[in-house]
Amino acid sequence: MSSDSKLMARDYHKAMAPFFGSDEIGSWVNGAMMPGRGDMFDLIDPATGKAFLALKDAGADVVDAAMKAASAGQKVWWGMTAAERGRILWRIGQQVRDHLDQLALLETVSAGKPIRDTKVEVLKVAEMFEYYAGWADKLHGDVIPVPTSHLNYTRPEPYGVVTQITPWNAPIFTAGWQLAPALCTGNAAVLKPSEMTPLTSLALGVLSKKAGLPDGVITVLTGLGTTTGVAATTHDVTRKVVFVGSPRTGAIIAAQAAQNIVPCVLELGGKSANIVFGDADLKRAVLGAQAAIFSGAGQSCVAGSRLLVQRNVVDRFLDMLVDGANRIPVGDPMDSATQIGPINNDAQYQTVRRLVAAGQKEGAELLAGGIRPEGYDEGYFLRPTVLGNVRNDMAIAREEIFGPVVSVIPFDDEAEAVAIANDSKFGLAGAVWTQSVDRAHRVAANVRAGTFWINSYKTINVMSPFGGFGASGYGRSSGKEGLMEYMQPKSVWTETAANPPAAFGYAPE
Ligand code: ADP
Repeated sequence: MSSDSKLMARDYHKAMAPFFGSDEIGSWVNGAMMPGRGDMFDLIDPATGKAFLALKDAGADVVDAAMKAASAGQKVWWGMTAAERGRILWRIGQQVRDHLDQLALLETVSAGKPIRDTKVEVLKVAEMFEYYAGWADKLHGDVIPVPTSHLNYTRPEPYGVVTQITPWNAPIFTAGWQLAPALCTGNAAVLKPSEMTPLTSLALGVLSKKAGLPDGVITVLTGLGTTTGVAATTHDVTRKVVFVGSPRTGAIIAAQAAQNIVPCVLELGGKSANIVFGDADLKRAVLGAQAAIFSGAGQSCVAGSRLLVQRNVVDRFLDMLVDGANRIPVGDPMDSATQIGPINNDAQYQTVRRLVAAGQKEGAELLAGGIRPEGYDEGYFLRPTVLGNVRNDMAIAREEIFGPVVSVIPFDDEAEAVAIANDSKFGLAGAVWTQSVDRAHRVAANVRAGTFWINSYKTINVMSPFGGFGASGYGRSSGKEGLMEYMQPKSVWTETAANPPAAFGYAPE
């Protein structure tokens, strides 16, 4: 860090110490750290662009040992009473609450997310475990009034070992989002977080042991996608794969899983339309549009990256949007005043900058941002960027940018707004801003998306189902629908008749 850097001093080891002590960080296997056996790779602080830790890729042998431990752990876990499982899930939530500040700091220094955001996200992880703790002893099957003399009932059963692959944009949030429902339904989870941001997922493994979770029920693999990730998703112990990440990798992983007839849940990207009508409360809509695209530096699958504004208010709306974008504090994620931190990694930073340049080349107008914040010459920082005069056929309106970049597309009427919103391969989220109740619900019904907001943006909660249409993926996370993804029903038939009718009649007299 240069002496005139605006960044606060960072003590990476102090941030890691509450969870890992002086242990060598490897993978969390069978309730302990297991060193990797593959090649070394670096963790980079997105605020400095410099490596702060070198880790070893787990590799296929560690994955194999982890899968055996997970398989044994799952049998112990499923053998416990549902109420016991619920109590342990609750205690994991409590551990997360007790370590809120430490987990938030670790996420901030390693993933570059502003501390004010990571504190909220960690709290949400506690809520996820608490929510599913309540479900654990309320999952049961049905008795079905079949037309024969049988008693027919269903038993919801776990898959066994589920493999979960998560990305770098919200590491601890996505880990909790998938771990809690998987455990609730009696599975063991093998989680492979992104190689760029594994630390807080590993910390969750450590905390789960403190909460009394049997060994092997949570595994966290530290390693690369093409080695450790491939070995985990294709291992014959894996009975289901849940992936959160880019559509390109999702398609590859689904094909890998298909080799073993293993089903997937894919939670992929988006290019969500945030639609503002002229009759909306424009001040609230502009605040909503900022939250939609700039929070998390736009590195959110539900980001409102296409902002559709009715033509009769577009100039006024753009003035407000640009004014706000120019005032949002961007900088050191450790500073509690910071609202936008760096982009997570160099490859993503280059992608975002390339797409902004491509947009300008295609005729979009750069109205704000597109530059580094003053005083931040290192790291992957970009000021909130507003592109005006965008057409829906430009690359910036079609590709997921995954950065703090909003493309503003004018429209004339409701039919055109809905048509533009639906003219995308994605279908993850969307929103409408209007004071007309009938229009709000019409648009909500007509836009193809798994989540839709009316006069709001970006709220999601573990209690409500989440997932995509189209190229945004399939299956659902969270809510009771998320639980269904982690269970398979078994149908049990019991004969109750004294002399049941027999289809075959040749038993001895
Ligand atoms: P990015 O947005 O950086 O492209 P990806 O969607 O490719 O991220 O990666 C998300 C997660 O998928 C990461 O944990 C990564 O290691 C993992 N991954 C990448 N390729 C594979 C693969 N072939 N098999 C399993 N996991 C993979």
